[in-house]
Amino acid sequence: GLDLAGQHVTVAGLGVSGVPAARALAGLGAVVTVVNGSDGERERAQAAPLEELGITVRLGDGDTLPEGTDLVVTTPGWKPASPLFQAAEAAGVPVWGDVELAWRMRGPDSPPWLAITGTNGKTTTVRMLAAILEAEGLRTAAVGNIGVPLVDVVLEPSGTYDVLAVELSSYQLHWAPSVRAHSAAVLNLAPDHLDWHGSMEAYAADKGRIYEGNTVACVYNVADQMTEDLVREADVEEGCRAIGFTLGTPGPSQMGVVEGILVDRAFVENRQQQAQELAEVSDVTPAAPHNIANALAAAALARAFGVRPQSVRDGLRAFHPDAHRIEHVADVSEVAYVDDSKATNTHATEASLAAYEHIVWIAGGLAKGATFDELVQKSAGRLRGAVLIGADRALIREALARHAPDVPVVDLDRTDTGAMSEAVREAARLARPGDTVLLAPACASMDMYLNYNKRGEAFADAVRSLAAQEQ
Ligand code: ADP
Repeated sequence: GLDLAGQHVTVAGLGVSGVPAARALAGLGAVVTVVNGSDGERERAQAAPLEELGITVRLGDGDTLPEGTDLVVTTPGWKPASPLFQAAEAAGVPVWGDVELAWRMRGPDSPPWLAITGTNGKTTTVRMLAAILEAEGLRTAAVGNIGVPLVDVVLEPSGTYDVLAVELSSYQLHWAPSVRAHSAAVLNLAPDHLDWHGSMEAYAADKGRIYEGNTVACVYNVADQMTEDLVREADVEEGCRAIGFTLGTPGPSQMGVVEGILVDRAFVENRQQQAQELAEVSDVTPAAPHNIANALAAAALARAFGVRPQSVRDGLRAFHPDAHRIEHVADVSEVAYVDDSKATNTHATEASLAAYEHIVWIAGGLAKGATFDELVQKSAGRLRGAVLIGADRALIREALARHAPDVPVVDLDRTDTGAMSEAVREAARLARPGDTVLLAPACASMDMYLNYNKRGEAFADAVRSLAAQEQ
């Protein structure tokens, strides 16, 4: 175990990972100070129960390193260039992420990690993997960035889990140098969060850390050369294999699709056998191309752990996606209304626009520095129309004008929460029977809503009122 008794540990940030990290550190006997830049009602509410545990919480100053700090444990939101880390570096004080802390707190017989990262599809794939492992009869949980802090999981009594399905963000990987997974997958790499990492190279390098020290398999996306390059650059244990997944026919050591069947050419049971059939494409919900890719990645990790083929099929059949991820809300007047509020960047939006033939697209929000030309170019042929909302909608409108001048566009010029009902009504006007009205904003939600869940709920509410009116 990790010995931090009497050590002065500074936790950077409160919230879903800072609070559990502070508790865990106090449990280890460390002298804990939590620092946080903002000092609002929410922060005070989180601070109070920590203070009862003897933890010092310093609100309103996240930049100054407390005197005598031996170790900094940071939450993912803090940028690497933060003054606090500069001060730590100058003082020779190490900085760990919450995942690094969890890894070092593990007991000797703690369960192996099957780890997943990528720009999009992490949560979905981690949950698919957990469903497959459960179908095999293994005790497991989907943990990590998905919202279940690893510091809490590693404190469970030994023997609670056989294996963990772990979602890791690029932020967490940046600060987790010692984590060593049994096997890991990078699903895809597209520009996102570049303001945090500084550059695409730095972002890719942080994602690539997930492969470091893998013992059995490094799973990469055949269609995404950068993921394969990351495997090549990684320092892995001897005998660890590179396993590709592809939507096409798989080569040796790959998982792929042949005539509607998910097949495994990486972990075949006997030499005579060319390929092992795992499941049908229709076993995956939704059976959109990007989601088949997620299923193949989950299957690869499960097979690397020795899971039987029929458990892959049973697990995929048992899996249902989380809310606001290509969620079918209702059919109204022969038009399907689909909520992909979780499509907060252009890469995710491209995947969901590729899943339908004729689309009235509702988009807009906070662009986070993104450009929309490539997305609109690739999807123009599928667009029946577009309805734009949110702060950065002009960027999308201009891209549509450049690359899809014939597509009718309704620019709502609204950023209030009520805009969604008007957007849905406008979309209904543009749609024809058989079309799909798709909320896939390609932007973050915070200009209009608390989060993407609230944005998706606003859409679903608006669709339900439309349905009520039509009756
Ligand atoms: P993450 O946890 O990485 O944010 P989610 O599983 O929550 O990923 O999905 C986020 C968004 O990305 C959703 O809009 C979903 O439709 C889309 N998506 C899921 N898998 C992929 C993929 N493999 N490639 C592109 N987009 C994807």
